[in-house]
Amino acid sequence: MPKRIGLFGGTFDPVHIGHLRGAVEVAEFMALDQLRLIPSARPPHRDTPLVSAHDRLAMVECAVAGVAPLVVDDRELKRDKPSYSIDTLESLRAELAADDQLYLLLGWDAFCGLPSWHRWDELLLHCHILVLQRPDADSEAPEALRDLLAARSVSDPHAMTGACGQISFVWQTPMAVSATQIRGLLLDGKSVRYLVPDKVLTYIQAHGLYRAAN
Ligand code: ATP
Repeated sequence: MPKRIGLFGGTFDPVHIGHLRGAVEVAEFMALDQLRLIPSARPPHRDTPLVSAHDRLAMVECAVAGVAPLVVDDRELKRDKPSYSIDTLESLRAELAADDQLYLLLGWDAFCGLPSWHRWDELLLHCHILVLQRPDADSEAPEALRDLLAARSVSDPHAMTGACGQISFVWQTPMAVSATQIRGLLLDGKSVRYLVPDKVLTYIQAHGLYRAAN
């Protein structure tokens, strides 16, 4: 049986319940055998993370320990280069059976920015793309993606077939929490209890992360 594997990248600075609930819901909805959370090393599209790669990875590990089918994949942190998705996909493909199905999870905003990604036109050679669509999002795709969507999109995500090559949409109401908000609360000396799993909170406290410099 081919495996169904989801890929969920992020800075995870820190991982929080928005990431984790979203991951669990998509994994159940798509009946994934595994959903890999992939912390990025040096994200090409954003600022440098506030804490080390080691700490971000350790927090994601704490968050998903024993929570199948969520697992951590640390390959982007082991690479001494920018975290391009195409490199990650090629490296994953080299380890998997040819008929294993890969689902790259992308928020609508990230999906709209796809044409600026390194070798973006090769992504679908390795994976399907599952766009996490918010009910309040502008649903007009940019011009550069219209032909691709016309050729590759499948209206029912459960009808996606094969190992790669299709695009579909999953509607998801995000929780009103972000890593930016959590870092801000911690810098202000406020509690983030219940915004992150207890084990992540314990890690943050034990390592004195996200505290204002004295
Ligand atoms: P920051 O506030 O630092 O920008 P973030 O909370 O958005 O961080 P990221 O690590 O940048 O977290 O996000 C990784 C992925 O998780 C992205 O695809 C993003 O859309 C998604 N995500 C972030 N917050 C939520 C949320 N509350 N609910 C569902 N998905 C989320």
